[in-house]
Amino acid sequence: MTTGHVTVDAVEERCILVGVVTPEISESTAQEYLEELEFLAETAGAITEKKFLQKLPMPNPRTYVGTGKLEEIKNFITSENIELVVFDDELSPSQLRNIERELQCKVLDRTILILDIFASRARTSHAKTQVELAQLQYMLPRLTRMWTHLERQKGGIGLRGPGESQIETDRRIIQSRIALMKEKLKEIDKQMAVQRGNRGQLVRVALVGYTNVGKSTLMNLLSKSDVFAENKLFATLDTTVRKVVIDNLPFLLTDTVGFIRKLPHQLIESFKSTLDEVREADLLVHVLDISHPTFEDHYEVVNETLSELDKTEKPVILVFNKMDAFLSAKDEDELEQKQIELEELKKTWMAKLNNTKCVFISAQNKENIEELKQMVYDEVHRIFKVRYPYNNFLY
Ligand code: GDP
Ligand code: MG
Repeated sequence: MTTGHVTVDAVEERCILVGVVTPEISESTAQEYLEELEFLAETAGAITEKKFLQKLPMPNPRTYVGTGKLEEIKNFITSENIELVVFDDELSPSQLRNIERELQCKVLDRTILILDIFASRARTSHAKTQVELAQLQYMLPRLTRMWTHLERQKGGIGLRGPGESQIETDRRIIQSRIALMKEKLKEIDKQMAVQRGNRGQLVRVALVGYTNVGKSTLMNLLSKSDVFAENKLFATLDTTVRKVVIDNLPFLLTDTVGFIRKLPHQLIESFKSTLDEVREADLLVHVLDISHPTFEDHYEVVNETLSELDKTEKPVILVFNKMDAFLSAKDEDELEQKQIELEELKKTWMAKLNNTKCVFISAQNKENIEELKQMVYDEVHRIFKVRYPYNNFLY
């Protein structure tokens, strides 16, 4: 079946990245987006050779960037033998078609890149099903490529050409596959709900945060387990749940998939049961990477996604992680400077958060972990007491 499905394979491909600067997105923000896209491309196995940015009132509806810019890109990829171009936003089916026709090479967008990484990292049948569903949903409207082109040539008459019937067949195959995946997910969701129900009365704590901030590292540290953690985006795709005991007080700790800017909406839908872990948690431990230049932006993105998921207000502990990386300095002077910066940062956040609990740690160097544990203990204990007011003897 020719689905037009694209995957980035294990062999390193050389790519270029393309983004836009608009009145809403400043140049520095657009640069950061592209840097993140570079990290995504790297995670998927591609080396970025150059980044192109264009200032526009809005992305061009036909070709995302303007004609001149596309020409410039075309010249570059021809002379440098580039085989892959990645755009920073989700391209519409017609944009994708127009750009491919112009550039004559593999064209991907942020969405399909993220889906590709997810696909290569899915381990359980649950995660695999969720990713496949999202991929199929992305693919379906983009199957029209060839035949819309034909349609235009023939002025809408005599459309029943051979290309069209092939696409019709493909479309039907994809549609029935989507239906199948949805069925399968429904089954899995039911099983997971039962599993969650069976976990009994334990208080549930979920680690949430932007991707690559150190959630899995912290999970390992708190539960002494062995969850896969590495410096790549979305190293973990499946949620892991562990029973953790602090001072005789048991609770369940969940490691979740990381959030990211411009998360494909297909994913939010198909990852419903993964996100249910967050929805059903009693306490959220929101992890931040303070060594990242735009961690405040990450904080906002995560909060927005959380409030989309769940309207109820849950208690949150904010964990400012990677203090060691924040403080890394080449000499004494710089270190002193950074320590002052850290103090400033603490003050600003404490003022901003007023009642939210927060703690500054280094999961890697195991700094302030006891403080964090105490905080989690206090919260879990408080939740437990509210839920079981007459249970005086247990804890
Ligand atoms: P997740 O995506 O949020 O689960 O993040 P991971 O736990 O997989 O960690 C991402 C990367 O950050 C890994 O390379 C970790 O070793 C690294 N990391 C985690 N905690 C710290 C820390 O406190 N300091 C530093 N320097 N690196 C850390
Ligand atoms: Mg992780």
